[in-house]
Amino acid sequence: MPKENEDVMRVCWACKTILVEDSKLGLCPKCVNRYGSPVAGVLLFGLGLAGRQLWKNGGKIIKAAVDIAKNIKP
Ligand SMILES: [Zn+2]
Repeated sequence: MPKENEDVMRVCWACKTILVEDSKLGLCPKCVNRYGSPVAGVLLFGLGLAGRQLWKNGGKIIKAAVDIAKNIKP
């Protein structure tokens, strides 16, 4: 019964509409337009936060590396 499973997978998770085309987001074109922008915004926000953390910790790592390099140099 693989066909039944495929049918279950091809349903928009937002409005339960059966998807005509394959959608990576699992959303029908209507809901992609409706939720696509906010989801992209959230993803960008998350990337921004991750980048900030990396920048913060990156500075610490560089400082530590410079200190180690100073100690190693005669
Ligand atoms: Zn939908």
